Amino acid sequence: MSGTGSDAGPTGADWAAAVDAVRQVPADGRVLLICHVNPDGDALGSMLGFGLGLRRLGVRRLQATFPGPPEVPEPFHGLPGLDLLVPASEAYPDPDLVVCFDAASASRLGDLVDRLATAGTALVLDHHASNTRFGGIHLVDPAAAATSVVVEGLLDRLGVPLDAGIAECLYVALTTDTGSFRFEATTPAVHEMAARLLATGIRPGDISRRIFDHRPFGAVRLFGEVLGRARLEPSAAGGRGLVWTYATLDDLARHGQRPYVLEALIDSVRCTAEADVSCVVKQVAAEEWAVSLRSKGAVDVSRVAVALGGGGHRFAAGFTGRGTADEVVERIRGQLDDAVIGGGDQEDQRRVSVFPR
Ligand code: AMP
Ligand code: MN
Ligand code: MN
Repeated sequence: MSGTGSDAGPTGADWAAAVDAVRQVPADGRVLLICHVNPDGDALGSMLGFGLGLRRLGVRRLQATFPGPPEVPEPFHGLPGLDLLVPASEAYPDPDLVVCFDAASASRLGDLVDRLATAGTALVLDHHASNTRFGGIHLVDPAAAATSVVVEGLLDRLGVPLDAGIAECLYVALTTDTGSFRFEATTPAVHEMAARLLATGIRPGDISRRIFDHRPFGAVRLFGEVLGRARLEPSAAGGRGLVWTYATLDDLARHGQRPYVLEALIDSVRCTAEADVSCVVKQVAAEEWAVSLRSKGAVDVSRVAVALGGGGHRFAAGFTGRGTADEVVERIRGQLDDAVIGGGDQEDQRRVSVFPR
């Protein structure tokens, strides 16, 4: 496969190498699956769906994990395959095979990064264009809407049929990363994959409600407060506009909420008509913030995120910010003008300027 930043998907040789890597695991071999820190639906769904597939292949010594606190966000508590999960501290120190999911760089594996060196083989399944090609064998498809698309492709080549458990995991992953089939990445192939998953009998209404439309009342009130302090800056990003807000650990504590509830906040902020770019700055420690960035299409927010030490996709990206929330937002403002796609593209400007300011 070609180098960093390539838009080409896996070659036939890449697929063959990945299939061999799985088939060559000895009968009593240990397989460790790792997804990125602070896992989202694509990370967890891709990892657990693949784990269930390996189990069908007869792999018995199998663990799934992610760095950081061993806490699965409540919306994912119904996912099939959760019994595969172990805390990072209990993960095999030197597995025969390690498989990484939805991580664009080794840093997204946190303390588990050492397994890339201690494992017999390291296989990477991902869909970030910015993937750094860490690990040994790469199935990285920037054209894929989710890592779960790559997972389905590998399970198919391994001869593992979809069952309802695998399908539910992959469906959660696919709906998470396509915004429930609303984003640009929603190609005919995405709907064809969704059709194959639904054909196993999984219930999309139940799954979507659990994953996207279900939160504690305290979180609803917390959202009200945090949205109430949102700021609109029409002149930011070369006039495309920025809308942003922040949430502190104190906000979470006052409403008795866990940090994961804030993951959905960006969806309420990014609908702001007057701004192309939206941002939520979420406190994770005294001077540390998890930043979510979204664009409607005029700004490449992955450029902003990469410049500030993070990564992501063109229209959905993030990074870890240090200092105060205001300092973090000031750094974002400083990067936005350079990240406007095509400089002064007229069509993008019209799209935003039909809304009176
Ligand atoms: P989020 O806003 O957390 O949903 O993240 C959006 C996308 O940005 C994710 O799919 C990741 O690709 C990427 N991302 C978020 N945070 C980071 C980070 N700290 N480092 C690298 N990439 C990130
Ligand atoms: Mn992800
Ligand atoms: Mn993803």
